[in-house]
Amino acid sequence: MDPKTRAARVELYRRIHQNFQAPVSQFDCGRRCAPHNGGEPVCCTTEHAIPVADKPEFDLLRARTDLWRRYTPADAQARRELADLHEDCVAIECKGARHCERDNRTMACRAFPFFPYMTRAGEIPGLSYYWSFEDRCWVISNLGIVTPGFVRECIAAYELVFAADREEHEVYMRLSADMRRVFARRNAVIPIVGRDGSFFAVEPRTHALRPAAPAEFPAFGPYKNEEAVAAAAD
Ligand code: SF4
Ligand code: SF4
Repeated sequence: MDPKTRAARVELYRRIHQNFQAPVSQFDCGRRCAPHNGGEPVCCTTEHAIPVADKPEFDLLRARTDLWRRYTPADAQARRELADLHEDCVAIECKGARHCERDNRTMACRAFPFFPYMTRAGEIPGLSYYWSFEDRCWVISNLGIVTPGFVRECIAAYELVFAADREEHEVYMRLSADMRRVFARRNAVIPIVGRDGSFFAVEPRTHALRPAAPAEFPAFGPYKNEEAVAAAAD
């Protein structure tokens, strides 16, 4: 990346960090997954999720805080995960959930566990989730708690990135196509949290989008037998 583009991207991420502040839900979801992960939120531990940032986003964060440092893979599995990392990206790690600085979270922290789902035509009806975290992330088992403000800000952030970088758009087109293949094999609908706070399901065979209710989306792993979501707000 040439220096001019890198500087422009730093400004892009500055704008994204300013505009993408809405929490995923009205309460601290980390309290729900941490008891199943040795007391730490799943998405804040590199054993489960190695944060990846664009290098300009890391430039921006490093100028503001010492929260982040480059991540050094600790084992062969982590090295394999990072083997195909794009040259413009960097694996990083923070000091941990107890030291979290809300304003200095990466875009990936803010969006987790979601990404913009794209239809085959490239439209973004809403957000879907990184399905490899189904058994660990409590939010995925409770999509009804996602706030419309979060969805709006998350999609707006990704649209800014896509406008600046067509390659990123292609990454999410491929990810959405992968998700369709995986869920077609499962014969399960893909849950979508819509832009306006409504919900949709992508049918596994036809990939058609239809209105849905969160109650029809399954829960996973240790969250299958939890009480109603209302209890989570306690
Ligand atoms: S987003 Fe998911 S993994 Fe992260 S703290 Fe919330 S429930 Fe846990
Ligand atoms: S910056 Fe905060 S939200 Fe992001 S990984 Fe670290 S503790 Fe978690």
